[in-house]
Amino acid sequence: MHISDNIIKPEEILRKHWGYSSFRPLQRNVIESVMSGHDAMAILPTGGGKSICYQLPAFYAQGLVIVISPLIALMDDQVASAQEAGIMAAALHSNMGAAGKSNVKRLLALGRLQLLYVSPERLLAGDLDKNILKDVFLFAVDEAHCVSHWGHEFRPEYRRLAECFAKYPAAVRLALTATATAQVRRDISSQLGLRNPDCHIGYPDRPNLIYRAYPCQDRNRQVLSVIRRHAGEGGIVYAQTRKTVEKLASFLQEKGISCAPYHAGMPASERHKSQEDFIKEKIDVVVATIAFGMGIDRPNVRFVIHANTPRSLEHYQQESGRAGRDGLPAECVLLFSAQDLIMHRFLAQEEGISGDRMLVLEKHLKEIGRYAISTVCRHKLLCEYFGASYPPHGYADKDKVCGACDVCLGEVNMLPEDEARLVSKKILSAVWRTEGRFGIGYIVNLLLGRNNERIASNGHDRLKVFGLLKDSGEAAVRYWIDQLIVQGFIRISDDPQYPLAHITAEGKALCRDERSVSLGIPAVPEKKKTRRKDKALERMGYDSLSHEQEAMFIRLRAYRRIIADKMNVPPYIILHDSVLAEMAVRQPKSLEDLRYISGMGEKKIERYGGLFLEVIAGRPVEDMEIP
Ligand code: ADP
Ligand code: ZN
Repeated sequence: MHISDNIIKPEEILRKHWGYSSFRPLQRNVIESVMSGHDAMAILPTGGGKSICYQLPAFYAQGLVIVISPLIALMDDQVASAQEAGIMAAALHSNMGAAGKSNVKRLLALGRLQLLYVSPERLLAGDLDKNILKDVFLFAVDEAHCVSHWGHEFRPEYRRLAECFAKYPAAVRLALTATATAQVRRDISSQLGLRNPDCHIGYPDRPNLIYRAYPCQDRNRQVLSVIRRHAGEGGIVYAQTRKTVEKLASFLQEKGISCAPYHAGMPASERHKSQEDFIKEKIDVVVATIAFGMGIDRPNVRFVIHANTPRSLEHYQQESGRAGRDGLPAECVLLFSAQDLIMHRFLAQEEGISGDRMLVLEKHLKEIGRYAISTVCRHKLLCEYFGASYPPHGYADKDKVCGACDVCLGEVNMLPEDEARLVSKKILSAVWRTEGRFGIGYIVNLLLGRNNERIASNGHDRLKVFGLLKDSGEAAVRYWIDQLIVQGFIRISDDPQYPLAHITAEGKALCRDERSVSLGIPAVPEKKKTRRKDKALERMGYDSLSHEQEAMFIRLRAYRRIIADKMNVPPYIILHDSVLAEMAVRQPKSLEDLRYISGMGEKKIERYGGLFLEVIAGRPVEDMEIP
């Protein structure tokens, strides 16, 4: 079937069911591929609108659209969201009760469903045979990077999906993910058995994200200062270990931040509560290990802080990408320390990773390190990592800065070239003199001229390098050492118990003036900005709202919260912030007026339109009924 053969155009379905006036880049192309029966791959950045790529075809398809997703925790919200658009949708996963499962199976057998979300385990379990899953039109594999162990979230079950697809040769296969390097894309295509797929690769940049990277000096305080820039807004803080998560969360709680921890070591019920409270906007901040967040769909996450350095740029893009799905400005901050990279390498060894995969890991660690200390635009680095040029092709002004990273905003200061070389030589000669027998802490003390028993007993207080960087301060010296490690002039030995610093051949070449080096000066994190208008409104560009309009927005939100609580779904499933803001500004008077507000599909108007109109007309929120 081809779209042009149909009477209703995809644009009309988009308008009618979702209330959106146009497609986002590539959505139309992906839908075209699928509808014309071609296997396809869609690499769209987070917030690019992947769900519509498989939900919209469900309206046309003669058969069932099956969405395979590893995110069980999220499926119920996804189903609710699809139902809000008027799709007959359901889910099957292991967390459901027997009655729920058999009800869905019954609906399937009767052909009463258009869209089914299913976890890979469930699909592979064997009981979903052709008597139940009849007439499959499309298999859409969400988070498709999970099929590749070159990527960042390998799930072994994903490798067996092709077995299942083989039973439905006529069904179209669509793989979707937000981030994938060329290597991961090849792996997705072969592992899922895509047949000569149409590849739709979106532009990876997220212009609304503001990237910053700081050397990690005082983790807790640095995290707190970023959070304080976002009073009352939602954000995620990632830390590497459970212990760091707990310490950081209690520190933040003591400082009055509304937050909760999340890690795999917590009882399932507590973990679940943290997640629910965050999604339902009952708390502002979640402090978590990377166990949290794959597919956290809360669109108004305003910041993501990495308190530890993640293990690859792919991880970073994926995790930081959870900020700003609604397209409004959001901030991504990375705290960098070379120590974290050493820890990653150690953990990988513990996991038994070796050979080629270890080499890949080493490469990834180098890349994230380079990103963190780079003095090049961070949007550019991320784009180039994912194989795209920056600024985008055809951009008028090649030298235009992004205006959305610390480098382009002029927040990163560099040492002049000569000084950087001199400082590097001082540090390298300290490493050289101590013959690779000491760790970074020792070298820092040596350079700062702090005499202690160990230094004295080794006679190192008599070395020429003793106290050479006394005036620079510990923070700067540590930062520079990290930068020399990342640039390959110093190597840290593998043993995590006793990581020792060695000078590399490159380092020796630098000492002979045969290499160049660049060193940054640690930035002082910004002070908290004063807060005047409602933050959410300000971000949407509504900073000149009248007092009445702002009050209206707050009332609309309050009413949405009441409905969401009652229906036990996250507020954004009802309506997005941006829709409420537009209502507050335009003050629609009739259902017809509502049709011109982006995000108000027919079903939403039918369900909530009249009620929100009453709120706008001034009826007190407390008196309102619940749909
Ligand atoms: P992804 O899975 O790619 O991160 P989603 O499918 O969750 O993105 O979509 C992100 C948000 O963008 C959702 O709130 C969705 O309703 C919205 N959206 C999707 N397509 C469009 C469009 N064409 N116009 C406006 N908003 C859209
Ligand atoms: Zn930039």
